Amino acid sequence: MISRRNFIKQSGLVAASSVFPIPDFLRPKPSRKLGVALVGLGYYSRDLLAPALQLTSYCELRGIVTGTPSKIPVWQAKYGIADKNVYNYENMYQLANNDDIDIVYIVLPNALHKKYSIIGAEAGKHVWCEKPMATTARDCKAMIASCEKNKVQLTIGYRMQHEPVTRKIIQMAKSKPFGDFKKLKAEAGFYNRGGDGSHWKLHPELGGGAMFDMGVYPLNAVRYATQMEPVSVSARIENSRPELFRVDETTFFELEFPNGVMAQCKTSFAESINHLKIDCSSGWYELQPFQSYSGVQGRTSSGKSFSPFSGNQQAKQMDDDSLAIIQNQSPMVPGEEGLRDIIIVESIFKSAQTGGARISLL
Ligand code: NAD
Repeated sequence: MISRRNFIKQSGLVAASSVFPIPDFLRPKPSRKLGVALVGLGYYSRDLLAPALQLTSYCELRGIVTGTPSKIPVWQAKYGIADKNVYNYENMYQLANNDDIDIVYIVLPNALHKKYSIIGAEAGKHVWCEKPMATTARDCKAMIASCEKNKVQLTIGYRMQHEPVTRKIIQMAKSKPFGDFKKLKAEAGFYNRGGDGSHWKLHPELGGGAMFDMGVYPLNAVRYATQMEPVSVSARIENSRPELFRVDETTFFELEFPNGVMAQCKTSFAESINHLKIDCSSGWYELQPFQSYSGVQGRTSSGKSFSPFSGNQQAKQMDDDSLAIIQNQSPMVPGEEGLRDIIIVESIFKSAQTGGARISLL
């Protein structure tokens, strides 16, 4: 007998023959939505992903993996999750026997992404993993290898790459309406009060720090806005609250792109910043905010403005990624994209530790 998962994989092969992207109104209506299990039920799962999964057309929330038993009845009552689709971190591998679940979405502290992505892939489930992909390039490569071996997709939750206003900026890297790139500025941060100091985002062992948390937004943005890869990087870290932060509080990094194009980037747990600006030879354009959950908007030097997207970013991301699975096409943000950022992050930390030395990325 053919399992539902294999049916989706096989039927997807037929659709993969399509060469042209399918407009929204022609997108196929699914006979059954893909089942998503959220792994980790903290802030982002609770406040953003689970509500967004009530709005998606191609996938739905069908399972949970949690280490906190008290959350189970709350989530089951709110989202109608069946008893057989509830797991903990120890028995999560048993997802292999559950055809209700097609996708595991890893929404855990950053240093745990690798372990649970691989458990999901070994169980034969497609893996969606939150940003940053992992805390070392080695872990990213292990995740990619496991997903390849198990013939499942691996997608990183870089929601901005799905966001329609951001997609216009990505498009402008090709159309170049203001000529060649000259310089870029990208900054993302928020004031992290630190609380009692126990949260994993303050601890290096779990992948905390501003660079992993918020810094991947400006890093990813200058790469997607130019559609180029940086050739070198230099960086420095400032820490105004060393008693609270054993991780980077503010990281400045300067990326050099081909043709001498420079990108000045900053990320911080000490101030609220959210800006992407692209200076070109005959004008400029910018997004402010460029990475908020809604209201991403911008303008150009010629007076044009980009109005905000009225839809739900996370629902759009998860529908795009579900369609890639159903149609057996490459996801918009595959594991290799997450790996590229983490290779650069490793050089950012290396540069900061060596007094801001410029490090080649070639
Ligand atoms: P959170 O602290 O609110 O939730 C983390 C969850 O992991 C909690 O439920 C916690 O119980 C669980 N957990 C399991 N093992 C743990 C351990 N050993 N130590 C600590 N917690 C453990 O964090 P969050 O803000 O939901 O972030 C989770 C992931 O989502 C991170 O990778 C983060 O970067 C990402 N995120 C992405 C976005 C986005 O816009 N794409 C936004 C927020 C968070």
